[in-house]
Amino acid sequence: MPFTANRRFKSTPRLFVGAEGNYYLSSDGRRILDGMAGLWCVNAGHGHPRIREAIKAQVDGLDYVSCFQMAHPDAFTLASRMVGMLPAGLDHVFFSNSGSEAVDTALKIALAYHRQRGEGGRYRLIGRARGYHGMGFGGLSVAGISRHRRDFGPLLPGTAHLPHTLDLARNAFSRGEPDHGIELADDLERLVQIHDASTIAAVIVEPVAGSTGVLPPPKGYLKRLREICDKHGILLIFDEVISGFGRLGASCAAEAFGVIPDMITCAKGLTNGAVPMGATVVGKHIYDAFMTGPESAIELFHGYTYSGHPLACAAGLATLQVYEEEGLFERARTIASHWEQAAHALKGAPHVIDVRNIGLVAAIEFAPRPGGAGQRSAECAEASYQDGVLVRAGADLIVLSPPLTIEPDEIDRLFGSIRKSLNAIA
Ligand code: PMP
Repeated sequence: MPFTANRRFKSTPRLFVGAEGNYYLSSDGRRILDGMAGLWCVNAGHGHPRIREAIKAQVDGLDYVSCFQMAHPDAFTLASRMVGMLPAGLDHVFFSNSGSEAVDTALKIALAYHRQRGEGGRYRLIGRARGYHGMGFGGLSVAGISRHRRDFGPLLPGTAHLPHTLDLARNAFSRGEPDHGIELADDLERLVQIHDASTIAAVIVEPVAGSTGVLPPPKGYLKRLREICDKHGILLIFDEVISGFGRLGASCAAEAFGVIPDMITCAKGLTNGAVPMGATVVGKHIYDAFMTGPESAIELFHGYTYSGHPLACAAGLATLQVYEEEGLFERARTIASHWEQAAHALKGAPHVIDVRNIGLVAAIEFAPRPGGAGQRSAECAEASYQDGVLVRAGADLIVLSPPLTIEPDEIDRLFGSIRKSLNAIA
């Protein structure tokens, strides 16, 4: 099994046999409140009837079409709907099948873009410590979680990393964007001094670092990154695989923070998790560079057999319609204050050294148990699971990212269960 200690797994399987709305049905017949929206993806709730029907209908329709000079109308319709929903400046879409592919696509586009403009010397890709960008070699190379990287050799050459933005000494128990840390963006200037801007193609960051434990950006940080990138002709990529499609109460983090990158990557919420799909959305200036650069047979030789797959497009179209018709992004924005209150009520609970939140996402960080990193969070998550609540354990962290359809009483139940679990293991 992926991401699993397989040797130990057999003794602690969690099997799910169904899901509806904000709940899973476990194989032992329990309804489990899903505090993770699957894996940050089921934003409209599980088994949404509209999405389910659209997928069923597509199964009886077009099954597949090659992406070599062929297409089907829904792929273009979905791309247009996405662009219509995203802020101005994000204008063209390239489809793939996962967040990892969306990221590798963005990195490749960045390199090819500079070549198109006669700046092929810009090959360097800059990520950030604690960043997560999927499991492909490209995404792994710009990512910054050592445990993910260490077994896989030297990865891509020519990468560098900005520092992460977690600063518990100054920002513990921040609500939303922390006050301190804008200056961490200036580290990009240091990298420019070392490597020279003429070698740097792009910077990629998660606007809110997710998998590493929910790190909202310090106030002004993303804007400053944008300014430094502009100054040096470096492309800015937001990896919005988690932050896209309502998680922050907006179509994407670019909209939520008012900072428009050159590209965003998305996946997960694009199809409500029901069919795999990823997408890389680029600004018109990038598209135009490929259309007006020196002519070669194929401007961007890139794609996947299943780019824009009909089933994924059907799921995507239905999902975007559900988001719009049910006003789920606004709902997330409205309910976020209740979410914040409930999360921060855990201040003072046993072992809790930080609570951080933004939109409908939060993390609770624990003091590590000496010699047992990650043990407390695993025990807490297990106790909550026994209590009927699914949360995600990281290293001394509990991470929460519920469906945007979560009700206030379910939010209370979620955080209440964590408190109960912490008391039980204290
Ligand atoms: N980027 C980010 C920010 C992610 O959170 C993830 C998945 N958690 C990915 C990329 C990779 O997506 P996938 O697992 O669909 O390849």
